[in-house]
Amino acid sequence: MRVIMLGAPGAGKGTQAKKIADQYQIPHISTGDIFRANIKNGTELGKKAKSYMDQGLLVPDELTCDLVVDRISQPDAAKGYVLDGFPRTIPQAEALTNALLARGEKIDYAVNVEVPDENIVSRMSGRRACLACGATYHIVYNTPVKEGICDVCGKELVLRDDDKPETVKKRLDVYHAQTQPLIEYYQKAGVLAEVDGTQDINVVFEDITKILGA
Ligand code: ADP
Ligand code: ADP
Ligand code: ZN
Repeated sequence: MRVIMLGAPGAGKGTQAKKIADQYQIPHISTGDIFRANIKNGTELGKKAKSYMDQGLLVPDELTCDLVVDRISQPDAAKGYVLDGFPRTIPQAEALTNALLARGEKIDYAVNVEVPDENIVSRMSGRRACLACGATYHIVYNTPVKEGICDVCGKELVLRDDDKPETVKKRLDVYHAQTQPLIEYYQKAGVLAEVDGTQDINVVFEDITKILGA
């Protein structure tokens, strides 16, 4: 099963993608996590990506598309995957569609997690991220067992620089201009499913499993 997650920054794509990956035993592929790992390791890609991410802008398609096509060609992705944070532009979606088409494959579901802009800034300022394993928490809605420490790997949690309100506003503008058109793109492709992302995390997940099937 090949699934992509759509939605504004902070809508809950990563949170739900992890649950989908666990439930359906497919890899969770997050471009944001891949870029952050590259930044942490000081790679060339990381240096380039950081300059865009810090400003709340998208990393250029040239740096993003090949990376994802390469990742979904790995053996562990043969049975499917959940893509989180990709595609984010129409050219990225087209690159993905074409890469899949060349192998006789397609995306099965594009799950759009809907959350109004008003809710996003508070969600993001409460988000705490583990840069070691990619897990995310929220200081009110999804707390770790031990404050400030990742349940999964025991590392320290941080407020991402790009989750500060000024940058979040910019990211929302970028979302509306460049990513929102993907909703129509996947609707036309006949694979769009929408869920109300303002509900409790587990209720959102129940709605998603109804769409994806047991
Ligand atoms: P969120 O889901 O909270 O928006 P992500 O971790 O998905 O955060 O992305 C963080 C940043 O990484 C984005 O603001 C953007 O700069 C960059 N990024 C991630 N995925 C992509 C992508 N597919 N195309 C371009 N930039 C991306
Ligand atoms: P995205 O990947 O779309 O940027 P995340 O999954 O990282 O979003 O979620 C953003 C923040 O909101 C995190 O702090 C997360 O714990 C929290 N969150 C996710 N889903 C919900 C929900 N349904 N209700 C309340 N908070 C949520
Ligand atoms: Zn962790």
